[in-house]
Amino acid sequence: MKLAKRVSSLTPSTTLAITAKAKEMKDQGIDVIGLGAGEPDFNTPLPIIEEAYSAMLKGQTKYTPANGLLSLRKTICDKLLKDQGISYSPAEIVVTNGAKHALYTLFQAILDPEDEVIIPTPYWVSYPEQVSLAEGKPVFIEGYEHQSFKVTPKQIEEAITQKTKAIIINSPSNPTGMIYTSEELFEIGKVCLKHDILIVSDEIYEKLVYDGNKHVSIAELSPQLKDQTVIINGVSKSHSMTGWRIGYAAGNKELINAMTNLASHSTSNPTTMAQIATIKAYELGDEPVDEMRVAFEERLNKTYDRLIKIPGFTCEKPQGAFYLFPNAKKAAELAGFNTVDEFVKALLEKALVAVIPGSGFGSPDNIRLSYATSQEVLDKALDRIEEFMNAKI
Ligand code: PLP
Repeated sequence: MKLAKRVSSLTPSTTLAITAKAKEMKDQGIDVIGLGAGEPDFNTPLPIIEEAYSAMLKGQTKYTPANGLLSLRKTICDKLLKDQGISYSPAEIVVTNGAKHALYTLFQAILDPEDEVIIPTPYWVSYPEQVSLAEGKPVFIEGYEHQSFKVTPKQIEEAITQKTKAIIINSPSNPTGMIYTSEELFEIGKVCLKHDILIVSDEIYEKLVYDGNKHVSIAELSPQLKDQTVIINGVSKSHSMTGWRIGYAAGNKELINAMTNLASHSTSNPTTMAQIATIKAYELGDEPVDEMRVAFEERLNKTYDRLIKIPGFTCEKPQGAFYLFPNAKKAAELAGFNTVDEFVKALLEKALVAVIPGSGFGSPDNIRLSYATSQEVLDKALDRIEEFMNAKI
């Protein structure tokens, strides 16, 4: 079968590759611990589940408008006003099948062949692939570790060309957990306004912030920045609703219309009962979200304190999301490996701990560990990594 070029040039997700290998080992009866998860380990809060069930019993099982139920879009507008202080109208919102689909549709809507999108590294694995699938060109700029994995306005300005269409800002970040301050965002915003670059602000980890850190949306910093930005968000991470597939984009009406047209010919609409459940999720307020946030923060503190004591690992403490992104180059060297990729392979095969190599995020010296799993499992994983290192050095 001769597949289309754009599909055959897709690189398989490293996250999925490691997770699949770990699963294969588990299926063979091997006791592997997986720290690759990109989703909260909590179940969706019960009232949300009950709302979907009752909606289905009432016959709400049919198509909805392609941009989502008006009632949900109004609820999202209320959420954006309450949390970010930004006023949107329902016509400026498109509900999508997860935030990933919002991003996919967005790039399809804005990119012509060779249009450039600036992607700071380390990046979430799907950004470059989605840009390439829309025939755009990912342009990487490095969020250096000594800059807390963040990029500067100067780096952005240097990367801008006649073809630059957009930049992606993901704060809190997957994989680093770092958060841009409002001052940093304002300065980045100035450069984007000056060159008329669309800001794609992926805020999916908005609610998972720790140690008094605050999430700020670049769109809330001025009316001009609101117009220059498309916010991407959803309930996957905030409400532990990864399987429900509800995300959204908020931005310029013309852009939202174009995304809606694309959705109308691809997905028709996001799942009806999941949309209704999402209204409930937002109506519940932040209490269930905060319970999960507190649990994540406890795990972060315990896991971080132990990890940095293991020889060879250095790590700036993450401020949000649910990942640690230590530099493991020294650890790999100490254990006798040339690359962190080889080290990760050995951790899986010998220590029976699955972590994700940073190479998949554009940072080959790092590894990503998810703490979206119980403390007991985290402790066991750290015991194994510690033993593995102690046996090697
Ligand atoms: N953006 C980032 C940075 C993510 O990590 C993820 C999920 O892993 C998504 C977007 C997509 O989330 P959703 O489940 O809503 O598609």
